[in-house]
Amino acid sequence: MSDEDESYAPNAPKPIHRLDEALIIHRPSSALKELLENALDAGSTAIQLIVKDGGLKLLQLRDNGCGIRREDLPILAERFTTSKLSQFDDLRSLETYGFRGEALASISFVAQLSVVTKTKAESCAWKACYANGALVPQKAGQTAEPKPCAGTDGTIITVENLFYNTPVRLAALRNPSDEYGRLLDVMTKYAVHKPSVSFTCRKSGASQPDLHTPGSPSTRARDNIHKLYGASVSSALIPLEANEEGFDDSSMAWHYDALCSNASYAGKSLKLILFINGRLVDSQPFRRAIESVYAPILAKGSHPFVYLSLGISPECLDVNVHPTKREVRFLHEDDVVERFTIDLAAKLAEQAQSRPFAFNTQKTQSRLQDDMLVDEEEDEQGSDMDEEPLPPSTQEPRRVYSQHKVRTSNKDRSLDSMLPAASSDSAAVRTESGGPGQTTAPIAEASTTLLSILNLRKAVKEESHSKLQDILCDHTYVGLVDARRALSLVQHGTRLYLLNHAIISEELFYQLGLRQFSAYPRVALNPAPPLRRIIRIGLDVELKQRPSKLSAQDLEDKIYKVLMKRREMLDAHFGIRISADGELQTLPMLLPGYVPNMTKLPLFAMRLGPQVDWSDEEQCFRTLLRELATFYSLAPAMASKDKSSDKDLAWQVQHLILARCRTDVFDPPAGLLDHAVVEVANLPALYRVFERC
Ligand code: ADP
Ligand code: MG
Repeated sequence: MSDEDESYAPNAPKPIHRLDEALIIHRPSSALKELLENALDAGSTAIQLIVKDGGLKLLQLRDNGCGIRREDLPILAERFTTSKLSQFDDLRSLETYGFRGEALASISFVAQLSVVTKTKAESCAWKACYANGALVPQKAGQTAEPKPCAGTDGTIITVENLFYNTPVRLAALRNPSDEYGRLLDVMTKYAVHKPSVSFTCRKSGASQPDLHTPGSPSTRARDNIHKLYGASVSSALIPLEANEEGFDDSSMAWHYDALCSNASYAGKSLKLILFINGRLVDSQPFRRAIESVYAPILAKGSHPFVYLSLGISPECLDVNVHPTKREVRFLHEDDVVERFTIDLAAKLAEQAQSRPFAFNTQKTQSRLQDDMLVDEEEDEQGSDMDEEPLPPSTQEPRRVYSQHKVRTSNKDRSLDSMLPAASSDSAAVRTESGGPGQTTAPIAEASTTLLSILNLRKAVKEESHSKLQDILCDHTYVGLVDARRALSLVQHGTRLYLLNHAIISEELFYQLGLRQFSAYPRVALNPAPPLRRIIRIGLDVELKQRPSKLSAQDLEDKIYKVLMKRREMLDAHFGIRISADGELQTLPMLLPGYVPNMTKLPLFAMRLGPQVDWSDEEQCFRTLLRELATFYSLAPAMASKDKSSDKDLAWQVQHLILARCRTDVFDPPAGLLDHAVVEVANLPALYRVFERC
């Protein structure tokens, strides 16, 4: 980030130009920050600070950077001189630390400033003294011209008697040891941020430095945190990073690297080391966001440690809001803060669990093959294949959620064309919801006399978990954490919960299916795809994963036959209409405004064959509704890197799925606690939860 402008030879001093604006040096540490930034801009790899009286008597910074050219020394401390810009346009692309050409000028107005500097090109060093923005003689009677002297490559900036001419300010800084503490704090933070640079700080006359970092190329930020803040901090750190190529509505790109303390770390107050584009800054929005993530996780009175280095497009940065440039504002700040907050919360939760959200799915995924093999055996035994070509499962299958069932192939995509792009304006939606946009219009329970359905509805009520219901009924959606793993973050009271929105949506769709049994609004597929073809696409995907002894053609025939045989029942009870010549014409609309991901249709159609228990009414309805729920769920059909689809997904999670979970149509089963709802806040409980998986 602090790399030299490409148009100059690396590490060669640049000519100095003039600029505009004002910077206030209000204490020794603010002067130090400017001097440090200059030294780093000059490409230094070793920086030493010597301090007397908290910097009030003496602040001397020595670096081994590129040095300042002899001819630039006369205007060095004039305001608005900088080597870092030659014209206004450069402001937009400048990424070096200081860039307004006023630090040295400002210091020269409140202290005695002297500079000893040597560039590689010069055979000796030059010394110059400044006051009020101009060169002054080193001793009475001499000229103000820079004088040659002995010296090594680099620059020594000496600031003496800071605030000698502003007694009110000086009086406000009565305690030199406080000021020394602040100086050390600034040095420490830069040392963390620039681990490859060696930093040393000592009091004048002291033989031992109070701060020293080796600055070898292999030194990491974490090593310096270990050295400077202690092992208890460094061992608690979790790394975090993100790289955003740009938002939809602008070209702003940003990236960050962070080290954040874990849930067991307990600091006395929030320690935030925030660098934006290489500048040490403060940001209230980041502070507030970080505190809010940790507040429910850490014990009362404990606070986190966060080192965050954020890089954003320089044109989006406005460092001028505060005269000392400590507070920074930038475009899209809210988005970046939110994204960091969500990443952080997710990382903390993830770090606390022994395994990620993963379920044992092997068993059920191989059912297709098993069933087909059983089928084959029965075939040999001469069972009545026309009656029951696909035998029912004998036991309740372990529930497998859709993101694990659904696999994809390129062929899946071609089905996109089967549905009108948006069916939310279809007649079916209008009759049911009273209009699109009304996303939580009530969904009535369809009356039925079928005992099987009444039983299944009763089972849902019995499994309902009241605490979970409280959480879902009264939550605030924080955001999408991970689209691929289907994770969202919500807040309930003071606590944060990570939800697997795919699993929750699958439960919701199961219950919506049960609720509207036999009375679904429908979505028309136009043009209606041939059922055989869809089944075949699903089979090809499945067989690629799990080859079967039966040929794809045989399987296709069997599944097609089963479904054609149940055509009337599927139409009457499930809103699935198959024409006499085998075209899939309609699907049920389980939730107003929501169309399932059609790339999942082939697997749905294929699975209706082996996965539905066709022998027993209640089991048939239950398994069929489960398959329907799998199909409709928000589980991704394929890993999508598409940013805009993430936004759509977040919208669906928030406004269609979770909004509906607030209403009485959803009774969250206790089973969700096993793998779909995790409290980020209460970590001991989190460990227990995942031990059970
Ligand atoms: P800015 O950093 O905004 O350019 P400053 O007043 O801080 O303004 O510094 C003015 C100029 O002095 C810089 O642009 C740079 O060319 C030169 N300079 C200051 N400190 C150093 C240093 N330690 N090494 C090399 N050049 C320096
Ligand atoms: Mg500067």
